[in-house]
Amino acid sequence: MNLSDSLEKTFRIQTTQKEALKRLGIETVRDLLYYFPTRYSDIGEIKMIADLESGEVATVYGVVSGLKTKKSFRTKVPMAEGYIEDTSGRMKITWFNQAFLAKVLHEGQKVSLTGKVTSGKYGLSMSNPEVNKTSFDAADVHNTLFKEKEDISEQIRYPIYRETKGITSKWIFHTIQKIFGSGIVKDIPDYIPEDILKKYNLPTLSSSLIWIHSPRKEKDALSARKRFAFEEVFFIQLSKASDKKENEDKQSYKISVDKKNHEEFMKRLGFELTESQVKAVATIFEDIKKDKPMSRLLEGDVGSGKTAVAASIANAVITNRPAQQNFGNLQAAIMAPTEILATQHFESFVKLFKGSPIQIGLLTGTGAKKFPAKVGPDPWTNISKAQLLKWVKNGEIPILIGTHALIYKSVQFKDLALAIVDEQHRFGTKQRAKLSQKENFAPHYLSMTATPIPRTLALTIYGDLDLTLLDGMPPGRKPVKTELIPPDKRDETYDFIKTEMKEGRQLYVICPRINEPDPDKENALQMKSVKEEAKRLKDKIFPDKKIDILHSKMTKTEKEKVMEKFAKHETDILVATSVVEVGVNVPNATMIIIEGAERFGLAQLHQLRGRVVRSSHQAYCFVFTDTNSAKSLERLKALKTAKNGFELSELDLSLRGSGDLAGAKQWGISDLGMEAIKNIKMVEAAREEAKRIIEKNLLKNYATLQKEFETRDRKIHFE
Ligand code: ADP
Ligand code: MG
Repeated sequence: MNLSDSLEKTFRIQTTQKEALKRLGIETVRDLLYYFPTRYSDIGEIKMIADLESGEVATVYGVVSGLKTKKSFRTKVPMAEGYIEDTSGRMKITWFNQAFLAKVLHEGQKVSLTGKVTSGKYGLSMSNPEVNKTSFDAADVHNTLFKEKEDISEQIRYPIYRETKGITSKWIFHTIQKIFGSGIVKDIPDYIPEDILKKYNLPTLSSSLIWIHSPRKEKDALSARKRFAFEEVFFIQLSKASDKKENEDKQSYKISVDKKNHEEFMKRLGFELTESQVKAVATIFEDIKKDKPMSRLLEGDVGSGKTAVAASIANAVITNRPAQQNFGNLQAAIMAPTEILATQHFESFVKLFKGSPIQIGLLTGTGAKKFPAKVGPDPWTNISKAQLLKWVKNGEIPILIGTHALIYKSVQFKDLALAIVDEQHRFGTKQRAKLSQKENFAPHYLSMTATPIPRTLALTIYGDLDLTLLDGMPPGRKPVKTELIPPDKRDETYDFIKTEMKEGRQLYVICPRINEPDPDKENALQMKSVKEEAKRLKDKIFPDKKIDILHSKMTKTEKEKVMEKFAKHETDILVATSVVEVGVNVPNATMIIIEGAERFGLAQLHQLRGRVVRSSHQAYCFVFTDTNSAKSLERLKALKTAKNGFELSELDLSLRGSGDLAGAKQWGISDLGMEAIKNIKMVEAAREEAKRIIEKNLLKNYATLQKEFETRDRKIHFE
């Protein structure tokens, strides 16, 4: 057996299983070994049969009897059943789909069983328990249960894996045990250098694999998890450090900032930059004066004025001429995640450059526009994409704004000196290189984000960027009034909203779910769904208002249409899931209700609230909650007291853990990797080691590390 062997060839697996595994991202022996358990069945659960209670997960020791196989009554699934008996009692056991167990076990076999206790017609029973043959007698257990719990507990720490239809946790467990049985794990060379393992007291790869899948002691499981968490962050840091180095080795345009031109532009803005905007602009001017490409992230809450910063930089850059040329302009590209956002950027830029000779293009999936217009009432005209691309290519259009369409091959710039990317977490070095289309050359790069994340996460996913914070807000902006609304205050709140709507204001209503409640899920009944809630609001609360819905199952075009109607005030109320999160500017929407608020992370709630800060009217955020838990309420109160989104994201991390960070998945870090993110020391250690290796060019000294890094890095960039 080899790590790279396909599971299909190594083990006899059925097509349905193969497909299920594929859904989990598992194809090879190695993939399965890296599919880690989410938890372990606990040791505190060994019980005598007579002490069992319905509903609990427990382990019992005893002797098996009455084994037989049959087909289940209704579904005809092959099954095995029997009894387990200890000194205190006897209990029925059944295994569906695992009739073979009846053959593997024999009458009188001593076993331990771990599973969920259910109560049925014939008293308590266990279905599909985990079985382990054991040398302990039921009587031994009885005697030692309280005296020597440690000894027994070492035998029964079962890993629990995330399942999918067609693959059970148990199948994964047994298959991994077979892989261990083949002996290959012992020989796996460790790609983490020995000195690093020693320095941070981490176990070797082969120990870690064994410990994470079948730990004998809790502390072994923990140290294996620590190692894998460390290594995940370490590989991300290696990747970021090498991206950074790659960029620093490139050339870029040296920009000289024309002071007079900049001051004129400031006048055109129509407002004074805030102190933090001024600082950010100055820092960026220093960066772009160099002939090395800038790599900077501008982080600032919604409404902090990132666009004004971006426009000032763009203006300074395009005022420069291409080298050895006394006409024309360098070029700037501005990329946004959606068509509406790109259009909004275009409109803001058009306002700022009105009356100047600067031409601005807009390129999206659906068409192209150019400013200024030669004729007509609008400041811009629709033109063909081909025409726009031609003018971008010959350099006549210095500012091009657009969606992802900007990185298509067909878009060629003449002298692209600046790339500004709004809210794209995964815009890496490779995409930057695509934009510039020049050998050993890269445009200055400014990434902007309003997504509040903790410092440890920022250090990891933005490890290749320098950070600038916009931590002030433009003056005169009224903070959003945030209120926690318990169930008995709802009617009052709806009445208040109605009076605001009479003044012409619009409302967002955020729900945690899309569809009808899923009856299988606990609590689902209380969890408001978008479709249901929209109907309820129309029937019961706002019968004379136009209500629309928005959720992630809609296509991109559908979503954009709904947003556009809302922006034009063709609808009054938008009932949505959290997809509405990423920045669309609807200044007239000044109210937001968040249903089931306790289900969202604080940073995410803050971002949702950010939807209503655009206006000069007073904005309101109504945090609807049904929770009675003092802890939950305390947590939600932070929304009223915290200074900004970053503070809230740190709170999320410390209070509820990484799973709560808004859309943790979008950063491509696993749940286990996120455990490292909670630990500033671990993140800093991984970062230090990665930086040292890349900056001193040491990777070539570590062949196994280099190979592993290259495989992983390729996966990250091309997935
Ligand atoms: P974001 O950081 O969310 O992208 P924007 O750049 O869209 O924020 O700015 C939000 C609003 O604040 C815009 O209407 C913008 O014109 C305005 N604005 C930005 N900076 C200032 C400032 N220094 N003073 C007054 N208004 C400002
Ligand atoms: Mg913005």
